[in-house]
Amino acid sequence: MPHFINVILPLPLEKHFTYSITQAEAEFLRPGMRVAVPFGKSKIYTGFVAAVHQEDPKIYEAKPIEQILDKEPLVTGVQLKFWQWIASYYMCTEGEVLRAAVPSAFLLESETKVELLKDARVDEDSLTDDEFLLYEALQRQSTMKINEIIQVLDKKTVLPVINRLVEKKVVVVNQEIYEQYKPKTERYVRLHERYQEEDAMHRLLDDLQRAPKQKEVIFTLFSLTAKDKKPVKVSSLSKESKSSAGVIKALIDKNVLKEHYIQTQRIQYEGGQVEAPLALNEYQELALEEISQSFETENVCLLHGITSSGKTEIYVQLIEKVVAEGKQVLYLLPEIALTAQLISRLQNYFGDKVAVFHSKYSVNERVEVYQNVLNNSEKARVVIGVRSSIFLPFATLGLIVVDEEHESTFKQYDPAPRYHARDAAVVLGSLHNAKVLLGSATPSLESYFNAQHAKYSLVNLNRRYGDVLLPEIEIVDIKEKHRKKRMTGHFSDRLLGEIRETLENGEQVILFQNRRGFSPVMECNTCGHSPQCPNCDVSLTFHSHNNQLRCHYCGYHMALQQKCMACGSVEISTKGFGTEKVETELKALFPGHKIGRMDLDTTRGKHGYEKIIAAFEGGELNILVGTQMITKGLDFRNVRLVGIMNADSLLNFPDFRAHERSFQLMLQVAGRAGRTEKQGLVLIQTYNPHHQIVQQVSTNSFADMYKEQLEERRQYKYPPFYRLIRITLKGRDYSRVNEGADWLAVSLRNSFKENVLGPEFPPVARIRNEYYKNILLKIPQKQSLGKTKQVVEKILQSFRAIGGFKSVRVVINIDPY
Ligand code: ADP
Ligand code: ZN
Ligand code: ZN
Repeated sequence: MPHFINVILPLPLEKHFTYSITQAEAEFLRPGMRVAVPFGKSKIYTGFVAAVHQEDPKIYEAKPIEQILDKEPLVTGVQLKFWQWIASYYMCTEGEVLRAAVPSAFLLESETKVELLKDARVDEDSLTDDEFLLYEALQRQSTMKINEIIQVLDKKTVLPVINRLVEKKVVVVNQEIYEQYKPKTERYVRLHERYQEEDAMHRLLDDLQRAPKQKEVIFTLFSLTAKDKKPVKVSSLSKESKSSAGVIKALIDKNVLKEHYIQTQRIQYEGGQVEAPLALNEYQELALEEISQSFETENVCLLHGITSSGKTEIYVQLIEKVVAEGKQVLYLLPEIALTAQLISRLQNYFGDKVAVFHSKYSVNERVEVYQNVLNNSEKARVVIGVRSSIFLPFATLGLIVVDEEHESTFKQYDPAPRYHARDAAVVLGSLHNAKVLLGSATPSLESYFNAQHAKYSLVNLNRRYGDVLLPEIEIVDIKEKHRKKRMTGHFSDRLLGEIRETLENGEQVILFQNRRGFSPVMECNTCGHSPQCPNCDVSLTFHSHNNQLRCHYCGYHMALQQKCMACGSVEISTKGFGTEKVETELKALFPGHKIGRMDLDTTRGKHGYEKIIAAFEGGELNILVGTQMITKGLDFRNVRLVGIMNADSLLNFPDFRAHERSFQLMLQVAGRAGRTEKQGLVLIQTYNPHHQIVQQVSTNSFADMYKEQLEERRQYKYPPFYRLIRITLKGRDYSRVNEGADWLAVSLRNSFKENVLGPEFPPVARIRNEYYKNILLKIPQKQSLGKTKQVVEKILQSFRAIGGFKSVRVVINIDPY
């Protein structure tokens, strides 16, 4: 009897590919193991076994496999099912899911390049002959392809050798070579060496007689370093000595203290005491009780808890219970940037049981976490991760927490699979029989709708922890302010006055502006021309710090021109404004104060993000200007005032979710204010003070917003009442894209009638010299999603068969965001 396996290859293939195996291999192989198999002319790929069987593929002759790569499955049965679900729901191939789901180090192929790991410590005696040969060859030649390695080793089955060298941390493979792990740094200080001697010490204390605050810092430093002479964190020193960062800085400037940045490995927990979780207050206690109760009968619960209500502490209690049962927990966050604050919080409670997983980690670290999760190791009971961590090989998953569940970054744009991690997490939970908790201060309309319709249970938490007051929210009508000439640049007199007062009281200010850059567009006052990107259909954005015009889509940039490129006029002015412009105006208005800016441009550097947060937390910055980035989940203690520079740029965004998103963004950024006893203040500057969303934000009326937006969604046929499929055509040939889109739209209309919208060019219709055109398909609730997809798939097959459209690519996005 012949034996076969079906293999999932890391390629966009419609079907599994079948290979022939021997009787012995059939007895050994199980689904989830890796095999090296030939595919195409002469390439070797790593694939995963999906099934072992005895059915001849018939249409083609099954080739034998090259090699078995694992002793045990690397992918679990649940994962294979999950991949299938993702592929079928999001209309992509399992091969594409596979690529997103396992660390690329698991996927050696013949094009893979291998090179020595930098700073590898190699114990040559521990290498086998083959391993040593390859190691030696790599010292002569910096990178090698699989084919070259086959020649050097003079054998065909080299993948196992490479795999072992990867495991022994001698070599690295491909893609990952350029990727760097981004360590987290923290600022430490210690006493300068010249004060080691006791005499010098006494002289120093004498010198500081007249600077009691500085002396206090030094004494605190002594008490903190009494046991060992290790450097002390600036943040703890400042807290313990009750001194501002300014005092510490003065000591650094005087050379009394020496400053260091120390890298704290995220992945390693440096011991320390594990603390017991905080005792919950009665409202948290009640919410916890309700969640636990709902979990007795339901699988998914939405926790709607206002900002600073203490949701994280509730998660902690739930996590503790699950961990005590020996099960695993997945804690999903929308963004890497948010993980730093949370990791240290969870490590306080769960110590080295916490593992972190995201793309900024090096391949070795990712492989390590993957293995730990697969083996249900003690080191990975609580996994914190961004969206891709839903693909980890959980052995026994008990709970998934999706924090900030409303965030759109949970949706993957590109490449396929274009999944939504929150929605996929709900499916993952049911595959594992695990509970799923969605948490947010501003739930998405979809999730809240599900909770209202008994798909999820709903728990409310309406009090801030410690009964801290919610900030007062005030609307500033800037149309009126302009008319009365009470604007200075982009600041109303009201906002300026409050900034001034806040700074005078030694408190901090956050200013939110939706765009980065200085001002999105330069415009000629004479002819109206504004410089365009040559590759994309967008105007270039002015960046003042380097006097450049830049494209935010493709990175194209040029020096700022003094004259209009079209008519030569020197009368050029700026239209709209971004974070950099706000920062520049502030610097002129408040010269004595420290102003920081947080956006994509300033956080690009290695520790950019953490440095700005730390500086703001430590009180070295008085004002922080930022984009979306500052809205998310950060817990700052000393912020009294939040200013939203311009609500209209959010509200006018051409998207059916624009209003919902504006509400979420504004309330989230407002939530950064007044997290201690003193009530915070939020000022919203807008040209439309009566806009219903602005009103609803100012009165914190989630219920009204929900009701009104839901009604609009019903009326205009959008989610949650209709499902959406967006079909995007892309190509370099403008007319082909156009013709293709028309053809597709006509075919779709034959089946779906008025529920097909478009084709239409998106707001930016050309990116990197490719033209884009969209068709939107709306699917009523009673229409079968599965059948709809089948029809779409059929139409696409006919489309692909048309020669003229060969150069046009089609991208399908289910539930587009
Ligand atoms: P949320 O995530 O709901 O915005 P957090 O969990 O960040 O709120 O809590 C807000 C603040 O209140 C945090 O500084 C947190 O440490 C504090 N806090 C919350 N619950 C407790 C508790 N039970 N005991 C002490 N402090 C708490
Ligand atoms: Zn001009
Ligand atoms: Zn461009």
